[in-house]
Amino acid sequence: MSSEVAFQKCLSASCGSTYSLTETLTGCPKCGELLDIAYEWDKIPVPASLKEFEQRWSSRQNPLDFSGVWRFRELIAFAPEDQIATIGEGQTILQNSPSVAKYVGVDDGNLFLQYEGLNPSGSFKDNGMTAAFTHAGMVGAKSAACASTGNTSASLAVYASTTGKMKVLVFVGSGKIAYGKLSQALDYGALTVQIQGDFDDALLRVREVCQEMGIYLCNSVNPFRLEGQKSIMYRVLEAMQWEVPDWIVVPGGNLGNSSAFGKAFMELKELGLIPHIPRLAVINAQGANTLYDIYESEGQRWNDGQTENDHIEGYFDEMTRENRRASTVATAIEINRPVNLKKCLRALEVCDGVVREVPDQDILDAKAQVGAGGFGCEPASGASVAGAKLLRSQGIIAPSDRVVCILTGHQLKDPTATVAYHSNDQELFEKTLAVRGVHNTPFGNRPVQAENDLQAIMDVIKARG
Ligand SMILES: *Cc1c(COP(=O)(O)O)cnc(C)c1O
Ligand SMILES: [Zn+2]
Repeated sequence: MSSEVAFQKCLSASCGSTYSLTETLTGCPKCGELLDIAYEWDKIPVPASLKEFEQRWSSRQNPLDFSGVWRFRELIAFAPEDQIATIGEGQTILQNSPSVAKYVGVDDGNLFLQYEGLNPSGSFKDNGMTAAFTHAGMVGAKSAACASTGNTSASLAVYASTTGKMKVLVFVGSGKIAYGKLSQALDYGALTVQIQGDFDDALLRVREVCQEMGIYLCNSVNPFRLEGQKSIMYRVLEAMQWEVPDWIVVPGGNLGNSSAFGKAFMELKELGLIPHIPRLAVINAQGANTLYDIYESEGQRWNDGQTENDHIEGYFDEMTRENRRASTVATAIEINRPVNLKKCLRALEVCDGVVREVPDQDILDAKAQVGAGGFGCEPASGASVAGAKLLRSQGIIAPSDRVVCILTGHQLKDPTATVAYHSNDQELFEKTLAVRGVHNTPFGNRPVQAENDLQAIMDVIKARG
């Protein structure tokens, strides 16, 4: 695939300017709006049916066919094949979970967990990073940077360390990052800058630094990242034998994932590759609920690209004046200024979407259910299951609906939150969870103490049944 079949395009309906792929941009130079990647589909050899992509399983020795992202390269057609940077991302699994179906309240067999924790760096971010990193290579970047609540930095750092192609700089808010994630950035050799502030502060700074120092920016304002993340939906469809589910439920932070999913379905429908589009539910944590406020409370809509920008900017100005800060145990979605807000509004329109907010208590309870009934996940991912349960209880999801919840991050990413939920360590519980309003642990699996004595140990086991 050559670069001539794809280009960058301003998201704003009134601007709509286009730019070549060779330009490194993080927004439209004319109006400042987000950029999208657009394709001239009639020049791309897209298979006539999605089923044809399955044939690539037989040529897995080709790294592009092995990749769960680039197997679908005709649908992400911006990179020449010899310039694609892949590390085997996207080997993920769609698990049918009877116990989570019961918890959510849908019919047995109807609840699916898409476990993106199986990616090389342990989160869905690798789907997008392979695309952004590829584009960075295409434009000859020597160094790349991101701000992160942890998973973006882990992902960028592992692409840099495995390919040896780029110097990497990551900005994290101090004290705001789960240890599993911080340990990755450090271990993979990224220059890690801990900013005194939160994610929203770190993102503002990294944008300035990239501008000043000519560094390639890999946050999800980067439109190429979202192209890679479309593949999560292709794999979900593939695992369902190309049948479209009724619901996709995804946690919302910076809203890159939800935006990418909407774009994936919009394009598949336009290409005639799917008969209809599933509904999308984006789930905020209650302590970081900007999208919920703007979409559900204030009724803001995509409106064919004619968004009410003054209203949305006013919302953020007020947030600044009141110094409102995001706060949730689900640190991956602890974001108050989602950069992809407008793209997400488009996705919600395309997918007849809904947005919900869930408290940390529900997030952690759902997370415990995911662990007990499957591969487990990090706190943010639990929001999708908590959100599905809420939508079911509101009658918006029906028991007969087929529901796919995206588990965005690996179980081991945030051991502190998990241990705080399950263990008897009251001090840890207080400082990790009680401060977030989590007071109950109905699914806590307490470790039991036993003397170092055979009979005592057997008694303890019997007492637990
Ligand atoms: C990044 C991330 C999210 C949020 O995704 P967005 O695309 O920013 O909305 C959710 N969960 C995990 C585990 C993440 O790493
Ligand atoms: Zn523009």
